[in-house]
Amino acid sequence: MQWDGLEGDEQKLDEEDEWQLYASAGYASAEVAAQAEEAEEVDKEEWFDGDDLVVNGASIDWDAPPCPAPLGVAHIIKMGACDHCLHRVAGRRTKARGAEGGLEIREDAHARDPEIAKFGAPELCPLCEDLFDDVGNIVSRVIESTQGIEHGTIQFGIHLPKDLIQDEDSIRSRHGAPASRPLKAAFADAIQEQLSEHMPDIEFVKEKPDLMILIDGLTLRVDIDVRPVFLYSRYRKLSREIPQTRWPCRACRGRAQGCESCQGTGLQYPDSVQDLIGEPIRVALQAEDTSFHGMGREDIDVRCLGSGRPFVLEVKNPRVRKADLVELVAAVNENSSGMVEIDQLDWSDKKRIGRVKETRSEKSYTIRFRVDDIPEEETVIEAISGLSGVVLEQETPKRVSHRRAAKTRKRKVVSIGGVTVDGDEVQTTLRCEAGTYIKELIHSDEGRTVPSVSGVLERECEVLWLDVEEIHAD
Ligand SMILES: [Zn+2]
Ligand SMILES: [Zn+2]
Repeated sequence: MQWDGLEGDEQKLDEEDEWQLYASAGYASAEVAAQAEEAEEVDKEEWFDGDDLVVNGASIDWDAPPCPAPLGVAHIIKMGACDHCLHRVAGRRTKARGAEGGLEIREDAHARDPEIAKFGAPELCPLCEDLFDDVGNIVSRVIESTQGIEHGTIQFGIHLPKDLIQDEDSIRSRHGAPASRPLKAAFADAIQEQLSEHMPDIEFVKEKPDLMILIDGLTLRVDIDVRPVFLYSRYRKLSREIPQTRWPCRACRGRAQGCESCQGTGLQYPDSVQDLIGEPIRVALQAEDTSFHGMGREDIDVRCLGSGRPFVLEVKNPRVRKADLVELVAAVNENSSGMVEIDQLDWSDKKRIGRVKETRSEKSYTIRFRVDDIPEEETVIEAISGLSGVVLEQETPKRVSHRRAAKTRKRKVVSIGGVTVDGDEVQTTLRCEAGTYIKELIHSDEGRTVPSVSGVLERECEVLWLDVEEIHAD
């Protein structure tokens, strides 16, 4: 079991799954509990016939039948079960719950057979190793560590030593009543019950909690994992000088203190779409950091207009989870001072990240470029329009080859048109399949994109600017 090193999204996912696993393992469903109660009714009658054995003087039977038979209960008591465990494995109905219920069962057994009383108070419960004594302590730790963190739902992840679980399981399955609550589930119940007294409005859930509370039953360590909140929106990038996500400084690789070259910021570019949008939200939610998950990205010098590019902002470790989204939108737009814009924000969830990342949408662009020794206007328009509908073969561009494996992709130019010629400059709009390298379609990247505007004009072309006009996402 790993407790540390929760950094990194992938690891976080694994970690969460792992917790889900043993968190849910801890909660036998309510259904099972209900069945157990029904079963108990039937079993009780059956086993109560065995009462005669005691009356007949067979006082200690180490091959005792399992609970709820009186001999089974007697056996569990003699083994030294604590009141908590007695209550959960005896399979008897009691007025009180938990330890108090266990005490009822114990006194009842003493009354039935005074011999049992001689065994006295248990020293160390073989079923839980006195784990339930720690419930109060754990509950205070939970209360202390969640102070000031807004939350509505809690999920527990409980870690108990493997050998304790195994030993308990073998005793319970041999001597306990059928469908007795396993140790981990009962321990979680006990914590939850006490915690509810202090936090009456909190809901305990089995998935997607606000707080994942990790409890180590051995060390009594309590870790609070404040689950991130997710916001979905679309951004317009109106600046040709900012990257989508934070770029660490090349010189110092984004060291915390930064360096001379980045003026202590640790960033290559002081602004990014991520921080222009994320910072006001991070501050409002009193969070630690953000992650930005965009539906693709544009180059720094490319604007993104129209209805904008879909993204999910992950806000990490927020102390506040509720906010007025209209106010947040206003705060973002004010903070972005015309470089970035959003129209709205919606609460979202982690699944949306996958959907945003996987979506492959066609995009429309406007591009302007200069042509060397430009031919007649008509020739230019005809040549460029002829590329409408063609399938390009694009080798990985030189500018990105340092971070992508070299391969050739086929991408379709859905349409190209509205070509205007202005001196030696040409402007056109085009719609392409997702993943098309647009600048390369113009200048051909030294022949790595075929066909290309440069190719059909048989001229050198230099891209002046590019705008994403629309991402046809929905
Ligand atoms: Zn116990
Ligand atoms: Zn630096």
